[in-house]
Amino acid sequence: MADKSQVPPVAPVYGAAAQGEIVTIFIGPEKKRYNIHKDIICHHSEYFRTAFNGRWKESDEGVTLEDVEVDVFNVFAHWLYAQEIPSDWESLYDIAAPGHTLKKSVLNEWSIGELLLRASVFGDRVLAPVLHRLAHNTFVDRYVPAPGEYCSVNYATVIWIYDNLPKGHMAMRLAVELQCIVWNTKDDDEEEELLWSKLPHEFLLAVMFRNNALKEQKCSDVEVKACYYHLHASEEEKKACKQKKQK
Ligand SMILES: [Zn+2]
Repeated sequence: MADKSQVPPVAPVYGAAAQGEIVTIFIGPEKKRYNIHKDIICHHSEYFRTAFNGRWKESDEGVTLEDVEVDVFNVFAHWLYAQEIPSDWESLYDIAAPGHTLKKSVLNEWSIGELLLRASVFGDRVLAPVLHRLAHNTFVDRYVPAPGEYCSVNYATVIWIYDNLPKGHMAMRLAVELQCIVWNTKDDDEEEELLWSKLPHEFLLAVMFRNNALKEQKCSDVEVKACYYHLHASEEEKKACKQKKQK
């Protein structure tokens, strides 16, 4: 039997939500102010549902999350209203850092993968499972956009993954697999070489062991399947995803 909590919720009625209350959330150490329709945020996040409907005094004064980054909350706010996360990094950049120029930002093409994982972790934290999965799956698809098309995970992201995600996390396993299957010594530019000494010991060991396993299996052309690394709410969703990939 399907677990009811895993069934994606029906979308809120936007017309009704737009006539309703606005709630305030303050993000980051600078307490950046966000005004969001209450029915929409409460529909998609159990955490905010409890905060704004419960007896917490937050329901009147707003919720403050000082340890959340503004770029991540921007992705969350975009997702709340648009119900999508773009996969191309320039669109994602515009969403995460609106009004900023690329050159001045700490975000770049390679930090977008990390941003997606941070958004996925945030989705988990505020009990928004749909965002948790979507941001994770968008991360996976970024490195495996189509069957046979891969790129290895950049080292800054690998380091972030090992510093922040639990052992055995799918992002960790994907980073190891791609390092074995795709990576070539010629791939690393000077910036990447500077990070060699900072690569997590566990990552390097995992790459060694996986390389050995591949050698023993005599697997010369292993295919990395994005769907294996995805998060799915149900078997049905997984089947639908595979079908989509085969088209
Ligand atoms: Zn999938």
